[in-house]
Amino acid sequence: MSKFDAENAADAGANSFLDKRRLETTLLVFKQLDPASIVNGIPTSAGYLTRDFIFAGEIRETCPECQTPHLKLVLLQVGVIKPHLVCPLCTRCFDAFYVDGTPALETPFFCSFD
Ligand SMILES: [Zn+2]
Repeated sequence: MSKFDAENAADAGANSFLDKRRLETTLLVFKQLDPASIVNGIPTSAGYLTRDFIFAGEIRETCPECQTPHLKLVLLQVGVIKPHLVCPLCTRCFDAFYVDGTPALETPFFCSFD
């Protein structure tokens, strides 16, 4: 086995480990949502106009559309009909589910930040 083959074998082993690790940590499945169905706003020629919302934090997962890291969590608050995740770059909105189909963003809390 040449040095090159040994390095490739080591890389393949590392990649296999990372692939397995990635599968083990993939906990959420995303479904893109129509913003008009989850937040109150006004459709305009420039897009869907809403009030500013307060983000409850970021999650580790990346946007499934543009791969921007750290989707932002929007919980129920004035103007928000359904908790969701939003991409800070492409502004797409997503619902999240565990791999067994259980909704991941259902919450009994109602946050009012007025
Ligand atoms: Zn995005």
